[in-house]
Amino acid sequence: MEVYVLRLGHRPERDKRISTHVALTARAFGARGIYFDREDERLFENVRDVVRRWGGDFFIEHVKSWKELLKSFDGLKVHLTMYGMPLLQKVNEIQSSERVMVVVGAEKVPPEVYELSDLNISIGNQPHSEVAALAVFLDRILNGEVFRVRFRDAKTEVIPAEREKRIRENP
Ligand code: SAM
Repeated sequence: MEVYVLRLGHRPERDKRISTHVALTARAFGARGIYFDREDERLFENVRDVVRRWGGDFFIEHVKSWKELLKSFDGLKVHLTMYGMPLLQKVNEIQSSERVMVVVGAEKVPPEVYELSDLNISIGNQPHSEVAALAVFLDRILNGEVFRVRFRDAKTEVIPAEREKRIRENP
């Protein structure tokens, strides 16, 4: 299954850190790439630096019209919101799709997102974080890909260790 993420409403002056975490979580948990509806070249370059060092072909890019992106997306569109239907009721339906676009907000998302999405899905019905929501969503629909994923052409790789930090360069 191919999963893409659409990050809506990023505010460069206050969301840099959390949006970076959204992008890195998307990559680490198995998504192919992430679209932002607002430009932030510095943030995009930071994420691309991580990809150059840690490998794979995860992309991060700005999209001029998120509505066009959603309308033209050939696959299932899933909006994560605390007001949506519980993920566990829909996980089989989502897993039967070959391509999924998952939408997460920063500030309040425009009401059309609810309409343009095929599914509005909650990860519990309490307010929390787009990073947490995305991580749980990807973990459940990709069956724990985060624990298996290895990235092509990595310049650096961690060697898991009980105590110290161990790194392999050019594995
Ligand atoms: N204040 C905003 C509003 O009223 O819509 C929500 C901000 S919340 C920190 C940012 C994003 O996290 C939301 O747009 C949603 O994608 C995600 N999120 C937060 N809690 C969630 C939950 N319980 N289930 C699914 N997604 C959630």
